[in-house]
Amino acid sequence: MSVALDKNHYLEEYESDQHQPWSVQIEPTEGCNRRCSFCGINAIRPGDHGHCSPYRHMNLKLAERMGEELADLCPHARFEFAMHGEPMMHPQIFKLLKVYRHHLPKAQFLLCTNGRTLMVSQERMQEDVERLLEIVDILMIDTYYPERDELQNMIWDLTIKGNLKNIVDYYDEWHPKKMSPYANNRRKEGGVLVVMDDIGKRTGQSRVREMLNHAGSNPMMPEALEPLQKMCTNPFRELTICYNGVVNICCMDWKHEYVCGHGGDFAVSLSEIWYGERFAAARAMLQSKDRNFGPCRLCTKNAGTRVGLCPKIPSPTEAQKMLVETITDEGAQNAPIDSKKVNKLKKTKKSKKSTRSA
Ligand code: SF4
Ligand code: SF4
Repeated sequence: MSVALDKNHYLEEYESDQHQPWSVQIEPTEGCNRRCSFCGINAIRPGDHGHCSPYRHMNLKLAERMGEELADLCPHARFEFAMHGEPMMHPQIFKLLKVYRHHLPKAQFLLCTNGRTLMVSQERMQEDVERLLEIVDILMIDTYYPERDELQNMIWDLTIKGNLKNIVDYYDEWHPKKMSPYANNRRKEGGVLVVMDDIGKRTGQSRVREMLNHAGSNPMMPEALEPLQKMCTNPFRELTICYNGVVNICCMDWKHEYVCGHGGDFAVSLSEIWYGERFAAARAMLQSKDRNFGPCRLCTKNAGTRVGLCPKIPSPTEAQKMLVETITDEGAQNAPIDSKKVNKLKKTKKSKKSTRSA
């Protein structure tokens, strides 16, 4: 029989308080119909084609279980749907979102899409936007080049009606007022479509819109030469659930280099994962400003928000250090082949071929 893990158990076992997740990221689909040059998806979908298939989708049965467990664990957290892929590529996206809404009626939902599937026609965009805003509070459309201008024109041509109550340009309207689509306003800001400009062109213009190195998965940004001696608040504040129920240390862990648990495994609940030994060991390392493990080794992200509010944790024990090493080794074996290495391999093969035929 598994032991029920919760806040009290955590305090007893690790001499540290640990809050429930403030936010949760859910991945309806892994895989994308774009291939942005700066996206971590390049590390898990090597190749040169214009999209990032294959697509792997969360099934409704798993969503049902995750929804039930999240309702117990963090019913008032902020939920974001996207993570490592394009959520609108999920063949049952509306049903999937409804499952989560059913279990989490009070939680704020944000869905991020690149808008490509909405561009089929103006009518289709109007219909899908209204349908989505019946379930989620904020719909954010990332408008990337080359389709950015056409997509934005279509968005501004939408009619404000039904569940679509407002369309805002993030940089022009929200950013000056210090408003953010990532803030939890407990469902007070419903029916909003946020038009987001291409981060590739505007990185750094807002604190919440900075391009990150995705723990070494963004091919456009350098990896940390040495593991940074820095805290990171992500694993203290946010729970991330992949399409198959796997929970990694954080959303930057594209390659599943530090797996904290498998939410799809019936023997383990999300609460057991969140308050479990794998997360606890990672938090102890990070609170000691030691990023020399898993994806954190290459990550250049800053410490994050509200560092001072994170619980003070005793330094990692020898057992925790060993656990972190074991998980890092497991992760290195599981990690998909890095796209850079694949491209290098392809080039070597090509040059060998041309030398032979010469
Ligand atoms: S940044 Fe978003 S739209 Fe671009 S490839 Fe990555 S998941 Fe797809
Ligand atoms: S330091 Fe580690 S936990 Fe923090 S964002 Fe980077 S990979 Fe994630």
